[in-house]
Amino acid sequence: HNYTREDILKMVEEEDVGFIRLQFTDIYGTIKNMAVTVSQLEKALDNRCVFDGSSVEGFAELGESDMYLYPDLNTFEIFPWRPQQGKVARMICDVHYPDGRPFELDPRYILKKVVKEAEEMGYTLKASPECEFFLFHTDEDGIPTTITHEQGSSFDVGPLDLGENARRDMVLTLEDMGFNVETSHHELAPAQHEIDFHYDDALSTADNIVTFRMVVKTIAKRHGLHATFMPKPKIETAGSGMHMNLSLWKDGKNIFRDDTDKNGMSQEGYQFMGGILEHIKAITCITNPTVNSYKRFVPGYEAPVYITWSGKSRSPLIRIPAMRGEHTRLELRSPDPSANPYLALAVLLAAGLDGIKNSIKPIGSIDLNAQKMTDEQRASLHIDMLPQSLPEAINELEQDSFIKDVLGRELSTKMIDSHKKAYHEYCMQVTDWEIANYLHKI
Ligand code: GLN
Ligand code: MG
Ligand code: MG
Ligand code: MG
Repeated sequence: HNYTREDILKMVEEEDVGFIRLQFTDIYGTIKNMAVTVSQLEKALDNRCVFDGSSVEGFAELGESDMYLYPDLNTFEIFPWRPQQGKVARMICDVHYPDGRPFELDPRYILKKVVKEAEEMGYTLKASPECEFFLFHTDEDGIPTTITHEQGSSFDVGPLDLGENARRDMVLTLEDMGFNVETSHHELAPAQHEIDFHYDDALSTADNIVTFRMVVKTIAKRHGLHATFMPKPKIETAGSGMHMNLSLWKDGKNIFRDDTDKNGMSQEGYQFMGGILEHIKAITCITNPTVNSYKRFVPGYEAPVYITWSGKSRSPLIRIPAMRGEHTRLELRSPDPSANPYLALAVLLAAGLDGIKNSIKPIGSIDLNAQKMTDEQRASLHIDMLPQSLPEAINELEQDSFIKDVLGRELSTKMIDSHKKAYHEYCMQVTDWEIANYLHKI
């Protein structure tokens, strides 16, 4: 979209919009919003709508009590599931201080800074996610559980696939909201699904991911189900990833393409991958930001464990998918859907550009499955591992000043402190595993 103020006023009038939600996201990637009626639309378009920044978790210390929302007109969209008279629309907003400065903890601002840097080099990142999620039952009080009656697996169809109606409804709703949905399917685990949409520039893709999560949860609820993007809700079944497909474009051309290379990949493509691999351990703290994220990084469930790349095998951290030519891209398989998509794309783009600037060669090329090797074989091939826990990832981020600079001092400090606090709380829990292993024996 490329909407003007007049376009917005006209659409609101013609579509009978009665209510407008001004959305933004916190540092964790959770959507927040302030709703206004149409009577306040002019004020909203003048960037004069205020919210209390000191009561948003993560924003609290730096945010002043008056923070301003600057709507991005191009994100205007109507919620198809709300009433058809007096419709509900939304605009995604940037967050600013009262004096007009952008707010350093606004994830959209951080991504925009990196996108601008890429533009100055003549590049546009195109990104598309593969979002996986589970659909679980709720109990009689409506509280989400991890229960499902379903026994479907990869690419199953109904009646084995009990989520097909909900999934179709999600896809059609997303299309109503302007998404270009490419495919959807049942995933490996019972009750696990995936919906893939077309690539777009980094900012639109990050906006799309937060919108996607909201739509999936809303439609699931309409079907009496709970949708969760928790990375590993159940032990001994697959976790949910958010594989990220990345390509870099210049003058309307995919510059990762080189038909003469054996992987169809250009030097810039390899260097971009080199930059990501160089910083991947610190990046993991952003792409996999929860205690639970690290329970997905175990062998046997199609999630990556080792820092490798390949143009052939399906198990590495980064693969070069079979579609080549204009579709040549990198698929990073570590991110999970608990990530804040703005921050994830910001650090990936910045690391990739750094790879190009410094001609970094990608390490860890291997066409064999590193998960099937012995420790000795991996050691002899110098195969390294992704961080195995949140504190390991925090430690990597603390040591990577490049990634910390991309996030900005304020946000990285905030993020590190908040993750440490979460981990500390987690460590104090007495888990079912401890009860099962110790209560009887000791
Ligand atoms: N669920 C797997 C993961 O955690 C991916 C499965 C797949 O798409 N092949 O990354
Ligand atoms: Mg997929
Ligand atoms: Mg998948
Ligand atoms: Mg994939």
